[in-house]
Amino acid sequence: MWSFRPRAAVALAILALSTLLAGGVVAATQPSDERALQATRQPADHSIESRVNKLLAKMTLEEKLEQIQLLPDFLVTEAEVRNGLGSVLSVTDPARIRELQRIAVEESRLKIPMLFAFDTIHGFRTIFPIPLAAGASFDPQVALDDHTYGARESAAVGLKQTYAPMIDVSHEPRWGRIAEAAGEDPYLNSVFAAARVKAIQGSDYSAPDKLVASPKHFVAYGQPEAGRDYNTTDMSEQRLRNFYLPPFKAAIEAGADTAMCSFNAINGVPGCGNAYTMNKILKGEWDFDGFIEGDWTAVAEMRACPPKKPDSGECGHGVAADGPAAAALALNSGVDSEMTSTLIRDFGTQLLAEHRISMKRIDDAVRRILRVKFRAGLFEHPYAPFLPGEAEAQMLRPDAVAAARKAASRSMVLLKNEGGILPLDPAKNTAVIGPLAKNQHDMLGPWWGAGRDTDAVTVVDGITAQSTGTTTYAEGCKLSNAEPPFTPPTTDPEGCQSTAGFAEAVSVAQAADQVVLALGETREMSGEAAARSTLDLPGKQEELIQAIKATGKPFVVVLFNGRPLALEDIVGDTPALLEAWFPGVQAGPAVADVLFGKVNPGGKLPVSFPRRLGQVPIYYNHEQTGRPCNPDVKWTSRHRDIPSCSPLYVFGYGLSYTTFAISNLQLSSNSVSRNGSLTASVTVTNTGSRTGDEVVQLYIHDPVASISQPVRRLRGFQRVTLNPGEARTVTFRLDRSDFGFYDNRGKFVVEPGQIDVYAGSSSTAELTQSFTVR
Ligand code: BGC
Repeated sequence: MWSFRPRAAVALAILALSTLLAGGVVAATQPSDERALQATRQPADHSIESRVNKLLAKMTLEEKLEQIQLLPDFLVTEAEVRNGLGSVLSVTDPARIRELQRIAVEESRLKIPMLFAFDTIHGFRTIFPIPLAAGASFDPQVALDDHTYGARESAAVGLKQTYAPMIDVSHEPRWGRIAEAAGEDPYLNSVFAAARVKAIQGSDYSAPDKLVASPKHFVAYGQPEAGRDYNTTDMSEQRLRNFYLPPFKAAIEAGADTAMCSFNAINGVPGCGNAYTMNKILKGEWDFDGFIEGDWTAVAEMRACPPKKPDSGECGHGVAADGPAAAALALNSGVDSEMTSTLIRDFGTQLLAEHRISMKRIDDAVRRILRVKFRAGLFEHPYAPFLPGEAEAQMLRPDAVAAARKAASRSMVLLKNEGGILPLDPAKNTAVIGPLAKNQHDMLGPWWGAGRDTDAVTVVDGITAQSTGTTTYAEGCKLSNAEPPFTPPTTDPEGCQSTAGFAEAVSVAQAADQVVLALGETREMSGEAAARSTLDLPGKQEELIQAIKATGKPFVVVLFNGRPLALEDIVGDTPALLEAWFPGVQAGPAVADVLFGKVNPGGKLPVSFPRRLGQVPIYYNHEQTGRPCNPDVKWTSRHRDIPSCSPLYVFGYGLSYTTFAISNLQLSSNSVSRNGSLTASVTVTNTGSRTGDEVVQLYIHDPVASISQPVRRLRGFQRVTLNPGEARTVTFRLDRSDFGFYDNRGKFVVEPGQIDVYAGSSSTAELTQSFTVR
């Protein structure tokens, strides 16, 4: 029922979401309207503006500087709350939130409520699949459900802001945080960003089950050199605008009222000291009237290092001489709220006296914060909608758990199914083997919110519940959940080095009819500060596959991981491969749903899976070179030691238990004016014998442009469910927002000439047609 037509596709997503929330049905051809994008933004409310101004007029300088301060629970004192502390992050105990808020609204001079924030990234207590997995669903409803329940549960304890959605496009699988967004494509990330914002905020985030969203990390944090977290990012203006900014623009247009600036430097200027990205683009070009909070100590991290201690960890980027300079830089560049470090609060008075910051700018920052607090309804309803003792009953409610299970199964990607080994027969005896088979902890993935390991259902339990045969289990080996710094120092940070458990695993496999191997990464290997220097399966898991293969039993490898893995060495040994990511609390039931065929897998990769690490970065939307990669021709941009130019699995790839044919790509016109539009339609047919889902994908390429264009750009997708033999025509709309692009002066241009259109079931889609932009 979802249709993603490319002109302001995100607008359509919003429109669709609104319709859905209203209980309606979205037709595949519903027209798009740029205005729909604005529809979820709260109009400037004059009564709110006048309340903000009245309150601001009463505030002392000290109270204004406190309003700008955002502290984690462990740094909060009651005295500071009485002084007018602005916001608190990472407290989830409803009684503690209530007590702190009580002090703020009863004992501070102006009784301004505090804003309580938390990282509800893929669920608060009901943990959904990680966002990279959700991206693989190519179904914005998955993201919508995730944040609808995440917001409901968060709000129930008294939170009113979430540091989500995380929407950093990334081409860097070594980076641990690739797990937190929708992968390598700006369009997919934009659609998901809008869906998430809409789900978090609804049409009015003062509602008792809604929060204000804070898209992050602004900006280009997804491209750290070597994948090492917080590392340098250096990129052209056109890259920034065409790849990394679009999801943020979509999130802001969807109504997001706060945003978080990033740790990384962009072309030498840190995200939280970057007047170009914050003042010019976000607040200027995009008219953002909410507030920007700095990421955790990011303001302080702009200071210079003491002499002779460049890598001491006590200092940072070196764009500010000292604390006062960092505070001035942050505030003057657009930061409105400082997280954890306290430089603006501590030096604000001094900086004002020295004319290094202005009262006008302080007032602007405070005004933005108060505006969001008024819009959030905090002055009327400062407390959670439930008493602290009632909050627990709001967690893990059946509708949320059912949605998490559905989201997890819709996010899984079938990578290989040789000889139709899947689905497995639930009546047979199944051995479930591997370090992630009887595992609750890792199923939640990174950023598990307030999730608890004990909430998660293991793969063994999921399979046992759905099988009428016997289910047996062997661990094989143990992965490590240790976190650096490793004490005592270890040469084995990933675990699974010992093969001592392999013999038991083999005998359990031999006694069964079929084997499920649950392998992958631990959740500590993904997320913040979790870069890996290899993309291989950790430890000796590959040898475990070989040991099971040698038994001759039919087996499937189910992978749990937060990044693309380099599977070149295992794919030949493995008849069936299911990518399950970190699926959340309903991991076991969702895996069983797919393995036994209750759910026909329909996910697609939101990121390319390289053959091996040396290919990284490898992404489908790369530019052409003067000597395009050709494995057989020496003087081309190939690797001399890889007989292929492609990743192992391309963006958009994924199999099903049925088969599909995509045919008959037709354009409504073979030419279009710069401001005109046309449609592309294509027929998808289920040619197999089971009901299943296909994601129809539309790409474009501009073969001649003033700036070399990506060889393909996703501009539309639709996930459809078809019965055997059923066919459907899917229609996409294309306009200037699709065939135009940003140039290196930051200008959006639409150039005349040919545009090639491709349609199919992955980024290698072969059906093609062309039209001309006049
Ligand atoms: C992360 C942010 C997060 C913040 C607060 C930082 O370390 O980069 O994504 O929102 O902590 O938890």
